[in-house]
Amino acid sequence: MNIHEYQAKELYRQYGVPTGKGFPAFTVAEAVEAARKLPGPVWVVKSQIHAGGRGKGKFEEASAGSGGGVRLAKSVEEVEAFAGQMLGNTLVTVQTGQEGRKVQRLYIEDGSAIARELYLSALVDRATSRVSFIVSTEGGMDIEQVAHDTPEKILTFSIDPASGYFPYHGRKVAFALGLTGDQVGQCVKLVGDLYRMFVEKDMALLEINPLVVTKDGKLLALDGKMNFDSNALFRQKDIVAMRDLAEEDPSEVEASKYDLSYVKLDGQIGCLVNGAGLAMATMDIIKLHGMEPANFLDVGGSASKEKVTAAFKIILNDPSVKGILVNIFGGIMRCDIIAEGVVAAARELGVTVPLVVRLEGTNVELGKKIMAESGLQILSADNLADAAKKITDAVRAAG
Ligand code: ADP
Ligand code: MG
Repeated sequence: MNIHEYQAKELYRQYGVPTGKGFPAFTVAEAVEAARKLPGPVWVVKSQIHAGGRGKGKFEEASAGSGGGVRLAKSVEEVEAFAGQMLGNTLVTVQTGQEGRKVQRLYIEDGSAIARELYLSALVDRATSRVSFIVSTEGGMDIEQVAHDTPEKILTFSIDPASGYFPYHGRKVAFALGLTGDQVGQCVKLVGDLYRMFVEKDMALLEINPLVVTKDGKLLALDGKMNFDSNALFRQKDIVAMRDLAEEDPSEVEASKYDLSYVKLDGQIGCLVNGAGLAMATMDIIKLHGMEPANFLDVGGSASKEKVTAAFKIILNDPSVKGILVNIFGGIMRCDIIAEGVVAAARELGVTVPLVVRLEGTNVELGKKIMAESGLQILSADNLADAAKKITDAVRAAG
């Protein structure tokens, strides 16, 4: 789960991580009010979307002017003008894809006098089973490019979870970032606070780009990208409260209501499968037969009829779906339950695309009977390869 920059900054404050002063704004009036609470003489108006590259991004609408998603304002009037241009308009950045994201929230921040822009990120490193940090003097830029062209400018290290954070970790970061004097002490405290926040909040990723040194020698986290482990959200109620559904794919939001593992993809074959491994294999075999899956969908090992119905509806509501493949191996899951769910959803919504169902396992005969007697156009398949061939052939034939 991702959160907005302004929410990330609330977490910084909770953990004593230095960041600029600022306030979120949902309307132009709130933006003006926020700007009045800040001293000036420079304000920064920042579009809040779950994607980076906002500064260099472009708005789709001409009414938004030619500025990007992060703009420096020299007066409250300018804050008002920029807020009006950003709110409600669509920002396209290197991370949003060409469709962009509609800006519905802003963050009005105190402008900082920046001397240097640095980079710091932390993530759960599966290879070492530790939290790893990545730091570089080349902040504000595309870090992938830095890693590619000048890998020597990047320091990575991990923290042993058994012994935890030690000041020498922070000194190592300070040295790599070329910090001197009392900035070393600031850095030791900063990295320690970030590590504590990362672990306590069950983060999967934290990226501060840029981490700046101000002209008066202060370290400041000026940006904040945070991603949280969705498996830990049950014990992170304050993080869940920050979820912004408008930033998520509507069909994925619907799927999460029913506890379905659903990921929207770009292809044309909708898949309804039980078990993540079988779902992956189903996607592979669709590709092997020359087409692409429209989604990943695992209904889980013990889905109810309601859950299957909801899953089927999500697939049917996707206009890019040109055919549906239901592939169920009934172990704990009974095939007749799946059949009932599929038939109920198909009746309710009407299926206009080819539908192939492959059932195997517990109560398979009953499941097949329910399908056959439903009066619906359902092609039955005997195994995975047969199912993939039948659905891809049917979709090609349908044109
Ligand atoms: P993004 O990474 O999405 O482009 P950032 O928050 O990193 O957004 O902002 C882009 C750039 O704008 C930063 O690299 C920095 O140069 C500048 N900037 C952002 N916030 C401030 C601020 N409060 N004061 C001064 N400059 C800022
Ligand atoms: Mg940034």
